Amino acid sequence: MKRIGLLTSGGDAPGMNAAIRAVVRTGIYFGMEVYGVECGYAGLINDELIPMSMRSVSDIVQRGGTMLRTARCLEMLTKEGQQKAVKTLKNRGIEGLVVIGGDGSFRGAKVLSEEYGIPTIGIPGTIDNDLAYTDYTLGFDTAVNTCLDIINKLRDTMTSHERISVVEVMGRHCGDIALYAGIGSGAEIIVVPEVPYDMDDIVMRINRSRANQKHSNIIVIAEGVMSATAFAKQLQEVTTYSVRPTTIGHVQRGGSPSMQDRMLAAQFGNKAVRLLKDGIGNRVIGIRDNHIIDMDIIEAVSMKKKFNFELYNTLQMISM
Ligand code: ATP
Repeated sequence: MKRIGLLTSGGDAPGMNAAIRAVVRTGIYFGMEVYGVECGYAGLINDELIPMSMRSVSDIVQRGGTMLRTARCLEMLTKEGQQKAVKTLKNRGIEGLVVIGGDGSFRGAKVLSEEYGIPTIGIPGTIDNDLAYTDYTLGFDTAVNTCLDIINKLRDTMTSHERISVVEVMGRHCGDIALYAGIGSGAEIIVVPEVPYDMDDIVMRINRSRANQKHSNIIVIAEGVMSATAFAKQLQEVTTYSVRPTTIGHVQRGGSPSMQDRMLAAQFGNKAVRLLKDGIGNRVIGIRDNHIIDMDIIEAVSMKKKFNFELYNTLQMISM
């Protein structure tokens, strides 16, 4: 393979830039030409491509966001849009494509592979950690660390005023950000889409902690359940302690990637290009039990994410 393309799609995630750098530099190492597609599938449909060089990816390893920019592109869901995307690739002589994104982006990659025969490799880039086939996605670790930083600050003020903080984190339908941020911050309670919550039990746990000389409580709620404001309103009706909602919001998508995300980015990007070099497409890259793996894209997108109940039970036992 002599010429490959690369795009970032869906929600941005810290570490995407580091992955772009790894793809470009590995491609150049193997003597390939690498083209960056701007704004995800929209750029592919509209033929917005830029040649990438060693230097065009200098000084980005530490930056959040994505230098290629990203987009959600409804046209890619249509046959017409897909045909335009394929035409761009053919006209440009691009023989293989690397797609950095989440579940939806992988569905687009699957279409290009399966229906149009374009060898495509997916790199999991999303803060949500909602892909079943990989233990971690790019950006998750940094997003959780951002949440921890904010929750630490909330704990200070909640303790001073003896309040309850309800903190909403992202993750769409997946509770992993709430789970990891909850354990990492010492939150007393997490509320996630995978486990139905019981308000009586939550009030009991709060009262028990107060009886044990605790002066504040942190409840981390995943956005997939409801907003912090709505949950705080429900809770305030059944407790005399003062409740304050906080929505962390988009700040958790930005920032310099953590060491873990930079390491994943380097390995994911490198592996993706090595597969294309060997003429292998239609795969996604991931990490399982600390090993970088690749797997069939169709199989990967059809897997159902399992919630880590062992971690959830650990939190229940140590947070009181
Ligand atoms: P995140 O998890 O961060 O939201 P994502 O990749 O899941 O990222 P989506 O908005 O679901 O984000 O998908 C990104 C883009 O992938 C869509 O805007 C669309 O262009 C393309 N896409 C999604 N589903 C399909 C599909 N079934 N067929 C073709 N393209 C698709």
